[in-house]
Amino acid sequence: MLYSSTRGGMQPLPFKSTVMAGLARDGGLFLPERFPDVSDRLAAWSDLGYADLAFEVMRLFADDISERDLRDIVARSYAAFSHPEVAPVRQIGPVHVLELFHGPTLAFKDVALQFLGNLFEHILAETGGELNIVAATSGDTGSAAIHGVRGRQGVRIFVMHPAGRVSPVQELQMTSVTDANVYNIALQGTFDDAQAIVKTLFGDLAFRDRHHLGAVNSINWARVLAQIVYYFHAGLQVMKRTGADRVSFAVPTGNFGDIFAGYAAALMGLPVAALVLATNENDILNRFFNTGVYRQGGVVPTLSPSMDIQVSSNFERWLYLHLGRDAAALRAQMEVFARTGEMTVAPASGEAAMDRWIRAGRADTAATLATIREFHERHGYLLDPHSAVGVAVALRQLDPEVPMVCLATAHPAKFPDAIAQAIGSAELATAPAIEALKGLPTRKTTLPNDPAAVAAFIETAIQNSRAASHS
Ligand SMILES: *Cc1c(COP(=O)(O)O)cnc(C)c1O
Repeated sequence: MLYSSTRGGMQPLPFKSTVMAGLARDGGLFLPERFPDVSDRLAAWSDLGYADLAFEVMRLFADDISERDLRDIVARSYAAFSHPEVAPVRQIGPVHVLELFHGPTLAFKDVALQFLGNLFEHILAETGGELNIVAATSGDTGSAAIHGVRGRQGVRIFVMHPAGRVSPVQELQMTSVTDANVYNIALQGTFDDAQAIVKTLFGDLAFRDRHHLGAVNSINWARVLAQIVYYFHAGLQVMKRTGADRVSFAVPTGNFGDIFAGYAAALMGLPVAALVLATNENDILNRFFNTGVYRQGGVVPTLSPSMDIQVSSNFERWLYLHLGRDAAALRAQMEVFARTGEMTVAPASGEAAMDRWIRAGRADTAATLATIREFHERHGYLLDPHSAVGVAVALRQLDPEVPMVCLATAHPAKFPDAIAQAIGSAELATAPAIEALKGLPTRKTTLPNDPAAVAAFIETAIQNSRAASHS
């Protein structure tokens, strides 16, 4: 399988090269040249356990890794989950909740980042190189990435979080990881400052090449790939349980990575009726799929911070497919958006809706809190605020003929303040993995909001670490 860039400015690459590159050098995102049709295999796949199913899906895309190695990478990635089914599906009231939060940091990003960490280590062991990951985080991505690569050979990770501006639980999930290859930087600035420093460091091509910088954000194709698996896992299981011949999914959405994986599963032949795209007040995607106008606004903080995003990096993948894989047309659209902060896209010819599958809606803070409260009172089930946005929008779109799978993207114990606001107390929002963090030794380095200071820190850390491993 080869991967081409959405901007059309480079030769297609095999899987392993796309994983190491992250973003294409022409500024585009990688997509497989085609999506294999698996409709003839769905019956057989519906009997597989999570890791076996993951292997079957991934081997279609990662065909430059031997089957033995891929099986081993996948098995190790999902052994790190605390639930024997990895991602159990539970019927709660009128919906099926797909629990994606049983990984080490209790958010769905572990599903992809555990796999990516093992994949990086495997590829580096073959090529003998090293990789220095530099990332900015507002909370969830940083901790999942740190837990994905901690202790791994050939990989170091530098994660900047805005000092004093992430939740105490999120900070502890990062700074309590004291492996030698993990560097937590508390930046004296905001998340946007941290993000700008990452951009500056990647923009310095000499620095980037000298230090083999790598990225772990959701533009990396391997992250999308790992997420395709659970759409098949949940969809096939729920169709089997209910006897339905189609299934819908509700996806709490920020960067569009998670729902794009569902889109890929539908393109591969999973019988999907609808992909419900749910946003909070930061609703650029909700507005786009209902009007065709993609217009950037300001970001407002909400109870679901991991969805507080205006410009969604993975949207470009959807747009490229929508435009019939026409890279020139995509570049023209993105150029208009970069210049004016707005672009208009027409539905495919003959279609009334913008997309075959995507149905978008939004849930504001009041609706989110009401949904947490209602599911707790009626069903004795505690939703985290991100998952509650998805459920709130899904409840407005239920079809008696089609089961609805709602993706639960985080454990409620990560967001005790929102739970307390919804049901009056955070007492029920606990998890052993979070209790176990309290009192652990922590390590972080506080740095000024200055790219040069961060670059100097990274450079020194790499030199010291190389010296230590050679002595
Ligand atoms: C990242 C995140 C999301 C949004 O997923 P995208 O792939 O960015 O759309 C939703 N919920 C939680 C808990 C997250 O961490």
